[in-house]
Amino acid sequence: MKNPQSLLEAIRYYSNETVCVEFLSNIRWGAGDKACNRCGSLNVYGLRTRPVFKCRDCKKQFSIKVGTIMQDSPLPITKWVPAIWMVVNCKNGISSCEMARALDITQKSAWHMNHRIRQAIANGTMEKLSGTVEADETLIAGRDANRHASKKLGHFGREVGTSVMGIVERGGKVVSHTLRSQAGPHLRASVRKHVAENAVLYTDGYQGYNGLGGEYYRDTVNHAHGEYVRGDAHTNTIENYWSLVKRMIKGTYIHVEPFHLDRYLQEQGFRYNLRKGNDSERFQ
Ligand SMILES: [Zn+2]
Repeated sequence: MKNPQSLLEAIRYYSNETVCVEFLSNIRWGAGDKACNRCGSLNVYGLRTRPVFKCRDCKKQFSIKVGTIMQDSPLPITKWVPAIWMVVNCKNGISSCEMARALDITQKSAWHMNHRIRQAIANGTMEKLSGTVEADETLIAGRDANRHASKKLGHFGREVGTSVMGIVERGGKVVSHTLRSQAGPHLRASVRKHVAENAVLYTDGYQGYNGLGGEYYRDTVNHAHGEYVRGDAHTNTIENYWSLVKRMIKGTYIHVEPFHLDRYLQEQGFRYNLRKGNDSERFQ
């Protein structure tokens, strides 16, 4: 059978343990030798009776889950594999309740799988963004309606939430993460960490970015004065990304602890960075 193309196909296809093991073993070892995770021996074979591998040298059996995010989980890989499909392909994310229903597991198990998967797809930040880059900071607040009365924001008339930073290469990848605050030094440190020197950098007029002009070709659009686009100078790409993030958080996760926010950002960033592929490709 060809690779599944939809969630329904994926759930059916990967409900067979042997299929899952073969799929994961191909990703892990490719066509090459399988390695024993205990002694490193390449003298490893798959048992005929169960989807488990055995090492001829140290005589130990091991499952494909060993050494992966699935290792300590009592859930079978026939639940894990479709769960991964869901996380990488649901544009607004998938709540643990929804995942629990789709896979017939408890919400608590689904929540743990969800977080493990998010951790696994965390963006590698070693690769710097280059070319034309937009940087922007924003606040992500939980829903006011969900707050305790004493913590509601409405009557203070000010925005409160967790500060987050987003940097996107036009036509390329995005990096987003939480910030300790929106103070200039934090913003500038993030830009320096994620953007290659000599990139063209667009931001809004916030003075926190001042001081980067020596390292980047920097230009700004002044939102405070109603200016949003001037030729190539705009921050629309990163603002589109923020609307994806906010839709995911408001629509799907609803109440996000600041502590977990980075993982949600990584999740949305992962889908964004593979946006050109179809569901099946993203999953692979
Ligand atoms: Zn071994």
